[in-house]
Amino acid sequence: VFSMDVSLAARAKLAELVMANHILARFGVVDAFGHVSIRHPDRADRYIMSCSRAPEQVEIEDLVEFDMGGRPISDDRPLYAERAIHSEIYRVRPDVAAVCHNHAPATLPFSVTNTPLRPIAHVAAPMGYCVPSWDIREHFGDTDMLVTTPEVAKSLVAVLGDGPTILMTGHGSTVATHDIRATVLTSVYMNENAKLLTSALLLDRNAVRYLSHGEVSALTARQFSPLALERAWNAWAAQDAASAAVRAGTNN
Ligand SMILES: [Zn+2]
Repeated sequence: VFSMDVSLAARAKLAELVMANHILARFGVVDAFGHVSIRHPDRADRYIMSCSRAPEQVEIEDLVEFDMGGRPISDDRPLYAERAIHSEIYRVRPDVAAVCHNHAPATLPFSVTNTPLRPIAHVAAPMGYCVPSWDIREHFGDTDMLVTTPEVAKSLVAVLGDGPTILMTGHGSTVATHDIRATVLTSVYMNENAKLLTSALLLDRNAVRYLSHGEVSALTARQFSPLALERAWNAWAAQDAASAAVRAGTNN
């Protein structure tokens, strides 16, 4: 039985977080690995994320409350190893209310080459003009490449700066915005944009038309407007409800 002590308004946010897990899985942004969190709606010094479970399987009972050190408030279930990413971002970025760490495959080639990951599709503008890249090996030598300590997370977050996205070399990426819907939308379109950019580079690697600084800021405002976020979210949530109904039907 789900027993987290939250306000009624916060309860709706938790349902959104569950939905976010499912949407990100359906778009292939996360698979068995990767995770998404929200800042606690009732208290800014905590955040909420699932216990160690594949995102597509996350349900509300799986959610765990964490402090800014990534310690569970009251829970003894196995937890994601890379909680430090979330803890550190929420700690130093008061503007951030939702974080997604993922291993989306399409973005990975851009983390191991000198080809910058930049938006070419208008819907991908919220990923920012150019995604910065952070290589754990540059700072910590040979490791298992996971961000499991505050020290490593601090190094990552220093490169993230005040931006919305960062590539993690040979590993994946992290997305941080003010809102769970915005983080999901940015994560989904950053991955789609990476696929499109790979195609564009194959067609003509010397003449790709990237979005300009001005286009990125104008389009981000549009994509993050309540109208756009709600339209995307409602469509994706309806797909999730439909597939849940199919799953339930299959089980009968
Ligand atoms: Zn990871």
